[in-house]
Amino acid sequence: DSSTKMIECGQPCTTLDGVGIELVANLGRPDETASVVEQGLEGVGLFRTEFMFIDAPDRPDPATQGAIYADIANQLAGRPLVVRTFDLGRDKIPPFLLSDEAEQPNGLHLGGLRFLLAESSLFESQLQAILEVSQDHDLRILLPMVVGSDDFGKAVSVIQRVADRCGVLRTPPIGAMIETPAALFCLDQILDQADFVALGTNDLTQLLLATDRDLAQAKDDCTAMHPSVLRAIKSVVGAAARLQCPLCVCGEEAGDPDFACLLVGLGIRELSLGPTLAPAVRSAIRKIDSGVASRVASRAIDCDSVAEVRELIDEWRSRDF
Ligand code: PEP
Ligand code: MG
Repeated sequence: DSSTKMIECGQPCTTLDGVGIELVANLGRPDETASVVEQGLEGVGLFRTEFMFIDAPDRPDPATQGAIYADIANQLAGRPLVVRTFDLGRDKIPPFLLSDEAEQPNGLHLGGLRFLLAESSLFESQLQAILEVSQDHDLRILLPMVVGSDDFGKAVSVIQRVADRCGVLRTPPIGAMIETPAALFCLDQILDQADFVALGTNDLTQLLLATDRDLAQAKDDCTAMHPSVLRAIKSVVGAAARLQCPLCVCGEEAGDPDFACLLVGLGIRELSLGPTLAPAVRSAIRKIDSGVASRVASRAIDCDSVAEVRELIDEWRSRDF
């Protein structure tokens, strides 16, 4: 009931031994913003901006976009808002990209950031909106599907150019999504340039495991509980610690209490999740010890299958939760 919910929200998200875990929200629509505050979350770790315009017949102009970002930021009342630039291309092609016969986009086969670099007018108009609103609010820019320091560096130059053109003096922090296998092999180069990183376990899992997140039928076919994905996460945690780059996990499974506890064991200290999943994750984290979590995570990394990892977690959960 609502009184229980308030008590949950009032409790800090800390492990038994006092390690604090920051919980922020994944947002797909502006009208979900109220739930961020209701659930006691500390901000928005991932605003997926492309979904607002996925059926739009016309290109969204900077003023329309800016009004939305400012409205969300106002509701967040000082909490940070991480705006991910449009993650379009490949399977996500809104009508407005195809409506102009004379201006057919040439990067449709590319996903995420490389699509935006190929579609520079769309990218620049979104950046203008973000940069203008960021002068009065804590907005941060997150770039999707980064594959290396080359595309990331090019995007940083575009952001700087748009900032200069708009007379914006202060550019906000710029982060990279780590969600392609390519990024795993040049973590140091990306993290060296990025102000923060967000680990997207949805894409990272489907790309590492050669599966499809939307079509996978058995839950073990596409889960970040796979030992290889856990090893990938561990390497990102290591690079982030070495290069002192803030790291958040924002894939859907961050909202699964079992997996969230495993992430704590892997060294993750910030989770971005669907706002309604926060109470269950918070209460699970409050029942674990971070030392035990890290021993369970080390064993999970050495497992040979998802089933083995699940068995380990179940055993831990029945004992410790
Ligand atoms: C991810 O891939 O894990 C992610 C958070 O981005 P999206 O789900 O929007 O692809
Ligand atoms: Mg993704």
